[in-house]
Amino acid sequence: MTSITLVRGDITQESVDAVVNAANSSLLGGGGVDGAIHRRGGPEILAECRKLRASHYGKGLPTGRAVATTAGRLDARWVIHTVGPVWSATEDRSGLLASCYRESLRVADELGATTVAFPAISTGVYRWPMDDAARIAVETVRATATGVEEVRFVLFDDTAYETFARRLDRPPLP
Ligand code: ADP
Repeated sequence: MTSITLVRGDITQESVDAVVNAANSSLLGGGGVDGAIHRRGGPEILAECRKLRASHYGKGLPTGRAVATTAGRLDARWVIHTVGPVWSATEDRSGLLASCYRESLRVADELGATTVAFPAISTGVYRWPMDDAARIAVETVRATATGVEEVRFVLFDDTAYETFARRLDRPPLP
């Protein structure tokens, strides 16, 4: 049974087996969570990402997929990079967003990670509406069979936290 916990804060400060990165398909860094992870985690993470680009992922990591690297100086063993879809008002891409959570948990299982921290994938630069993103995140994690014991959603601001809390029937921030 996987327990779901909620934290309001910066995902790069969490102590977990694996931190999930809302990456872009280049795997070569970006803004938001991605920038924060590379800044705090240090150059080892980018070095492994470059190796992945030079080997398995020459064209980049496809949307909805996930791949692991070292976590460098983060208090974690691995970073699991996943590429969320860009929000579209005309096309339903929710299957791809669900896939990010499912594939990240699959990679976590392969690694033997039992605690995994997720950001709200696609809700930043990729503009996915927070309530719908929270619904997809929670429903997908609940529906995925995994050996991961704790999924920790780490939400960067109060609004994101409260949106996830409502979806999970948890109390709002004090
Ligand atoms: P995407 O490109 O998938 O939209 P972003 O990194 O732009 O990814 O944003 C995803 C979510 O992560 C947003 O809700 C953003 O506010 C949040 N975020 C940004 N920095 C951090 C951080 N250090 N820890 C946790 N969440 C963060």
